[in-house]
Amino acid sequence: DRALVWFRRDLRVDDNAALHHALKRAKQVFCIFVLDRDILEALPREDRRVQFILEALQVLDDDLRRLGGALIVRHGFASDEIPRLAAELGAQAVFANHDDEPQALKRDALIAELLGSFNAKMQTFKDHVIFERREVMTAAGGPYGVFTPYKNAWLKKVDAFYLRSYPVERHAKALAKTPSANGVPQLSDIGFKPGGLIAHVGKGSRGAEALLDDFLERIQDYDKKRNFPAVKGPSYLSTHLRFGTVSIRRLARIAHEMMQGGDHGAEVWLSELIWRDFYHQVMHHHPHAMSAAFRPEYDAIVWEAGPRADRLFDAWCEGRTGYPLVDAAMRQLNQTGYMHNRLRMVTASFLTKDLGLDWRRGEAYFAAQLLDFDLAANNGGWQWASSSGCDAQPYFRIFNPTAQSDKFDGQGKFIRRYCPELASLDDRAIHAPWARAPLEMQGIDYPKPIVDHAEAREQTLRRYGVVKGK
Ligand code: FAD
Repeated sequence: DRALVWFRRDLRVDDNAALHHALKRAKQVFCIFVLDRDILEALPREDRRVQFILEALQVLDDDLRRLGGALIVRHGFASDEIPRLAAELGAQAVFANHDDEPQALKRDALIAELLGSFNAKMQTFKDHVIFERREVMTAAGGPYGVFTPYKNAWLKKVDAFYLRSYPVERHAKALAKTPSANGVPQLSDIGFKPGGLIAHVGKGSRGAEALLDDFLERIQDYDKKRNFPAVKGPSYLSTHLRFGTVSIRRLARIAHEMMQGGDHGAEVWLSELIWRDFYHQVMHHHPHAMSAAFRPEYDAIVWEAGPRADRLFDAWCEGRTGYPLVDAAMRQLNQTGYMHNRLRMVTASFLTKDLGLDWRRGEAYFAAQLLDFDLAANNGGWQWASSSGCDAQPYFRIFNPTAQSDKFDGQGKFIRRYCPELASLDDRAIHAPWARAPLEMQGIDYPKPIVDHAEAREQTLRRYGVVKGK
């Protein structure tokens, strides 16, 4: 009997649940990736993620060939290609790992139905998170709405069973020889162009390996360094977690073991991995929150709109708000497709609470720019910042962008990296370059602040007044 393994957000051979189960259960296993027109056609031609995906597929194909198989890559609609391939290859089953995004669930339901029409089955597995769906629930049987109790329940439940790996190599003899596998296409073959810097994340699972090795040298300092964008503190593994070019079980196993050995850095890092699971289960239980406020009363807020709001939004996107830390952060995003977590919080707060703009505008901009864009985490982060989310920052807590700058980039190192026009200012002046003298008089070509923080703060408290007492 024959099976297909359909790769989606699990672009690796190592420790892959669907691949493992297929190899154990079927005699011949074909490996497939679909460059899905449904997804690709909505993207700009120079979207960096397409380049990342093609590189990851190349590594996946190399690894499968090393084990005696190969990757079949198709460019078309998944709902045509998967049933067609299953029929052509005479496969009775399609194995895949869960993708719980609402659109993906719809797509998978349709494909399962199409496969059913010729008695083939779709079998799916958990692979992207440690706990999903209804696996961690409160004593009353409901979903958790607050992170800390969720985390405690997560830590109580986790054990070697949930962190075990799904070996592939030892079952590899079931990989089908596919002489017709056409190789991975080039960007231009599918109508895309190179989209700028992505070298920092590396190529597919090999890139993940290099980043992990580097991070494990400094994981014990994660708790102390993670908040300072100029310092190499975090792991930079988010893009790999998003595309499954690294196994979450492997990362959680390492962190959990180190935590049990008393390592505080690893404990704090594990907590971030648990936030990832937390937002993933929020998406499962509250799909409405993917397009509206998690707390519906926040949908009563009236955001700024019209030409002035559009100008403020453009200035934010392009890193010309006149607030150096905000601008440096947005330029980091535009240039590299990555933004440090502290800065995601600062820039999201600035958009909603200093500019008074709808969080969905910021969410959409991040979704277009981030290499690691993930619907559940991005939506969770934005709704945290806009105070409308599950276990969010209270609305009256408003980051002061200058104070954040002083606290987390005290010497202005990060600002100087992305705003070189401010490089000559001293460490104190760099956080608020307008404060000492008009910028023209200082000979600095940099915008004046587009809003006054103190005024914006008052306005935000009034704006959010509509949710008070609800
Ligand atoms: P590390 O500090 O090394 O953390 C390890 C991993 O834990 C990350 O790779 C990520 O998978 C997970 N993680 C860490 N923090 C969070 C968090 N708050 N929520 C969920 N998972 C987390 N993360 C994304 O992966 N994709 C997004 O689209 C995304 N959008 C965000 C938008 C906003 C407004 C905010 C405030 C946060 C967002 N995050 C997002 C979470 C976080 O900023 C990134 O995961 C992190 O900066 C990635 O860098 P790293 O891999 O070096 O993180």
